[in-house]
Amino acid sequence: MESKAHFERLLRGLDGKSYQQYKSLAGAFDLGVYTLHLDHIQADPFAFPTTARLVVPADFLRLPSSWLSDQECMVAIVDFLTRRLFEAAKTFRNRRGSGRSGALLIDQPLQTVLARSSVLIENETIEVRLSLGLPADGRKIRAKEAEAMFLEDIPMILDMSLSRRHFPFAELEDHIALHRDQNYLRNSLSKKGLLAFIADGSILARKSGISDLPLDEDSAVKFVAPDTLRVTFTLPSGKIVSGMGIREGITLIVGGGFHGKSTLLQAIASGVYNHISGDGREYCIAVDTCVKVRAQDGRRVSRVDISGFIAHLPKGRSTQSFSTSDASGSTSQAAAIVEAMELGAQVLLIDEDTSATNFMIRDARMQKLVDTSKEPITPFIDRVKELYRGFGISSILVIGGSGDYLDVATTVIMLDEYQPLDVTKEARAIMESMPLLRKSEANAPLAPLRTRFPQPIPEGKSLERMEAKSRFSLVYGEEFIDVSVLEQLIEESQLRTIVAMLRYAMQNYVDGRRSMADIVQYLTKIVREEGFAFINPYEGCSGFYSMPRSIEIGLVWNRIRGLKIR
Ligand code: ADP
Ligand code: MG
Repeated sequence: MESKAHFERLLRGLDGKSYQQYKSLAGAFDLGVYTLHLDHIQADPFAFPTTARLVVPADFLRLPSSWLSDQECMVAIVDFLTRRLFEAAKTFRNRRGSGRSGALLIDQPLQTVLARSSVLIENETIEVRLSLGLPADGRKIRAKEAEAMFLEDIPMILDMSLSRRHFPFAELEDHIALHRDQNYLRNSLSKKGLLAFIADGSILARKSGISDLPLDEDSAVKFVAPDTLRVTFTLPSGKIVSGMGIREGITLIVGGGFHGKSTLLQAIASGVYNHISGDGREYCIAVDTCVKVRAQDGRRVSRVDISGFIAHLPKGRSTQSFSTSDASGSTSQAAAIVEAMELGAQVLLIDEDTSATNFMIRDARMQKLVDTSKEPITPFIDRVKELYRGFGISSILVIGGSGDYLDVATTVIMLDEYQPLDVTKEARAIMESMPLLRKSEANAPLAPLRTRFPQPIPEGKSLERMEAKSRFSLVYGEEFIDVSVLEQLIEESQLRTIVAMLRYAMQNYVDGRRSMADIVQYLTKIVREEGFAFINPYEGCSGFYSMPRSIEIGLVWNRIRGLKIR
């Protein structure tokens, strides 16, 4: 490791030189307050920024050692420190030089608490991982600005966010306690036969369709559970929460348009994650195996057995191993369900707004007009009970338009002006007074799931470039892959992690004999145990990884065109 004096000398010698010469700074320097590791240095001011690690002694912050030996606690601590570092670094953005130079970038956590690579607490040290834009004037090095960045700005950021002198320990304690309470709640659900819980007082509505922030207190109608569905939990912190429990089985969410049905389903989908204090969904918790499935025409499907839902295609094409690069609404939704099951989904969340109508239902009149023998689709309504009884898979469905679904429901929740009412009894009475006219179209039982085995890259071929472009897309070779429909993928950093995991798997783990479900389980396990650096392809570790569910790894993988399946 080099000294501070050496670092200063090096930098001064670079002043005014071409940007490329920054490369000579690669290495580690003891800068007093912290140790600087420059792992990858950008080639020009507009290229991918420089990746760096800042290491301070644990004593800088001095967290209680009992917190550090506890994995659950550590996730909350790292998340909290990342939020503070992000806020502190924000004030220094782009103050030193032209273009992207001068930027100090820390990963930005959104509303969810996730395991992250942005901070690593280990061996009596705290390591902060960030990206920075080394200061430039055009393509010339500005050494004075770089010196100020490393010797003034960064020490200030570390002081503002991590120094024990003004660290809000009580706030961190609350952050940890909430995280523990939420995990406890999630783990307690199945013991009570529940899939999800929404506490009284929750704010489910968001600021807008593109914002994950809560709707203002004044405009939001707070959630109040109907008495018949009320459950109460005492949490590890001592807090008591009471609210609506959604039971295993088949739950319908009904109600008029714009009364909050989709909002409730979205809140349940996001309940697989823990939300920060102030989010409104702190105690809106769902079991980890909830998967939102939907139609997405145009997507790719690779060798999925959708024959339980779609028997054959025009020209007699089989659907037991269905592949297409351009699925229709109904085939994409059928594939989404089978893929989710294969990845371990135990609860399907389906919204009529994002479903193919012909996949969900065919009513009596349509059955009369178009004979069943001419319709390859077995609609979901004729499979939903079987999924529960035969496969243990529950469904929570938003259905505003088809009363035929009342016949398959175990619970019916109506949203009335955003308030939930239990209308299961009323629904039963209607079923008795108005008999069902349609006939079931399931003429053979659902076949057992078929396991799929991803194939390794053929000998002599190398892995194509794979990179997350945003939260919504990635590229693989020349292909652009749209993953915007994966609603339970929250952060771009989760997608970046998935990409790194898949790259790792394809190079080291996929052997043609391991199933997709096993591989994605392994990937989350190994990263949890070994840390994010395990899948990082370069020296050091990027600070821009956050933990996905293993299910999302599979959902992304299924959309990649280069995937070869047996
Ligand atoms: P639906 O699916 O029943 O048509 P949505 O869930 O899409 O209705 O909600 C319609 C609108 O009402 C959305 O803009 C949503 O943000 C808002 N909204 C939903 N729930 C609430 C609530 N509890 N309080 C205030 N506004 C809400
Ligand atoms: Mg809706």
